[in-house]
Amino acid sequence: MDEEFLLLNPGPVPVSGAVREAMAEPMVSHRSAAFGRVYERVQSGLDEVFTRSTLSGRSTASDGTSLILNGTATMGMEMAVANLVEPESELVALANGKFGRRFARIADRYCSVTRVEVDWGDSFDLDAVSEAIGRETDVVTMVHNETSTGLLNPVSAVGELAREAGALFVVDGVTSIGGDVFCVDDWNVDVAITDSQKALAAPPGVSAMYVTERAAEAAHGESAPFYADLEWHLRKAADHQTPFTSAVPLFRALAVAVEEITDEGLPARIERHRRQAEAFRQGFAAMGLDGFPDARGETARSNTVTATALPESVRERPTEFFDAVSERNVSISGGQAHLGGEIFRVSNMGRLTPDQVLRGVRTVGEAVTDVGLDADVEAGLAAAEAELGR
Ligand code: PLP
Repeated sequence: MDEEFLLLNPGPVPVSGAVREAMAEPMVSHRSAAFGRVYERVQSGLDEVFTRSTLSGRSTASDGTSLILNGTATMGMEMAVANLVEPESELVALANGKFGRRFARIADRYCSVTRVEVDWGDSFDLDAVSEAIGRETDVVTMVHNETSTGLLNPVSAVGELAREAGALFVVDGVTSIGGDVFCVDDWNVDVAITDSQKALAAPPGVSAMYVTERAAEAAHGESAPFYADLEWHLRKAADHQTPFTSAVPLFRALAVAVEEITDEGLPARIERHRRQAEAFRQGFAAMGLDGFPDARGETARSNTVTATALPESVRERPTEFFDAVSERNVSISGGQAHLGGEIFRVSNMGRLTPDQVLRGVRTVGEAVTDVGLDADVEAGLAAAEAELGR
């Protein structure tokens, strides 16, 4: 095992040396001017990530606020739902994977929920979605990039339905924002949520949320959870603070990470992610491995997380396959919940190099060969190299 450790899980993802170093600086108070400047740097980077994630760099939102939360994206998902509904509210939750379902489970604790659920890895039937969203719907939730299955869901189409019905639209962009196109206003998104340890390529522990004016006006301060009171967070954000003690080292790391994104430029970063995901897809396909999700219609395969079906023979002994990957000092993920032993997932979020993508393809090819599959690793590498323009 002489090659460096390579983290290809769909989060946390590798972070740069500069991001790591930012966490080692001497501590300051979260109420100090020094910390306020850190908050401001994060907020300004996030503003750009949330509003300019297009291939042209065009802005797609203007009136919202970027918030940084002391907690992972699940806190953001719960904060969005809990602040926008009351017990008698009607929420429609779309689920075709673990995280879509998580939104529904969160909402069950706060209001009445209608689920539009299909098998994990399947595309939504937009007619069924349209039927579920009506004039009585207050909030619609969905996941843009379903990490558990590697599907990119049609946020734009659902956003139109939500807006027509007058409902607020809350979108989990945890594994797309910072790595793929995301358009707040064009897609009628009212709240967008992302995590630090995914496409933002920062350490885990904090998350971010973009709250439009429309969502801010709809927040119910009185009934909001104390720690996750949206109005309170928005008020403090205006002073570059969080309501409670901030995770200072993580905020510093996130400040550097978002600056690395804006330095690369969002159009270039999105193009790179798309190229690298295609390299994984084509590389695995050339070795005879089938993509997992059933992407049809307006649903596509993800540009940040590649999910691949384990071949029948490997499914009989998945542990041996994953051990063969680990022996090569590479970390990838299996399937979650009932997809355990059925699929594997690799991420290309963050600052992956072409060589690291190729190493991922080679490692998977060698590992399936170790467990007895006749995979053409060279063909896989050639296909991936072609996508990477090498
Ligand atoms: N949403 C999506 C799409 C995710 O991929 C994840 C984490 O993998 C989450 C939400 C929840 O993140 P966390 O466990 O960091 O709260």
